[in-house]
Amino acid sequence: RIAYVNGRYVPHSQAMVHVEDRGYQFSDGIYEVTGVYKGRPIDAEGHWERLERSLRELSIAMPMSRRALDFVASQVVRRNRVVTGIVYIQVTRGVWPRNHPFPPKVTPPALVMTARNGLGPGQAVAERGVSVYSQPDIRWGRRDIKTVSLLPNVLAKEKAHHEGGFEALLVASDGTVTECASSNAWIITRDGVLVTRALSNDILPGITRARLRELALGMGMQIEERSFTLDEAKAAREVFISSTGSFALPVVRIDETVIGNGVPGTLTLGLRARYLEFLESLSGP
Ligand code: PLP
Repeated sequence: RIAYVNGRYVPHSQAMVHVEDRGYQFSDGIYEVTGVYKGRPIDAEGHWERLERSLRELSIAMPMSRRALDFVASQVVRRNRVVTGIVYIQVTRGVWPRNHPFPPKVTPPALVMTARNGLGPGQAVAERGVSVYSQPDIRWGRRDIKTVSLLPNVLAKEKAHHEGGFEALLVASDGTVTECASSNAWIITRDGVLVTRALSNDILPGITRARLRELALGMGMQIEERSFTLDEAKAAREVFISSTGSFALPVVRIDETVIGNGVPGTLTLGLRARYLEFLESLSGP
């Protein structure tokens, strides 16, 4: 395997960053995970846009132009023979002797890209559905920025996995669901209305969320972007989560509560099928 590290393509086993990289010391950096489907990038524009926004919000410089990012991404995909998988991109504020304030402006941001085959849990898992476990959302106030500071997400997902679940369903102190450790959360009401939390500082603006929203509207589905409580989710007709890897993935259990009749809902599976059609329709790089 090959990784891109600060201007060089190096063997994955030798891909290293400096001990004084601010990402390592302070989590002072951002990342993106973009999907590759049958050799084609999924919604690359959306991911680059979010990457640029995350950097801007933290006053980290863009490490290179979008076109150049596209090129390096296509190189790591090609050099790793990725057909259906992911590209991981990380940008930190660079290397400087440890001190909290920003280093001098001339310090270049550090850029790392890796790629590997394997994209999400697959159709068999989707047809069974997954369970999720609710947990308090203990993250900071800027969850809209895709920062590498993921300790609360790591702890939440570890706990969910320990319970045998696929994801952690994160609940704010007011009882509303924010999102999951690495996916957005959706419910479908008894009336067949899709509900997902509105964008704000409380959640990450998922690229898959945006794509599914557009596809659902195109299918004539009704969408409400609003908060919903954990109780509302448990009583919903259908529940699903969305992310680059899981697409739209049916949830059949929240904690000890079975959703609907315990099998993936028809509306969720219909939307997932539409998303798979969208993936098939992608044009090549
Ligand atoms: N929410 C969080 C906290 C995430 O980390 C992710 C992705 O990793 C998502 C939502 C889903 O975002 P996307 O659809 O862009 O993968």
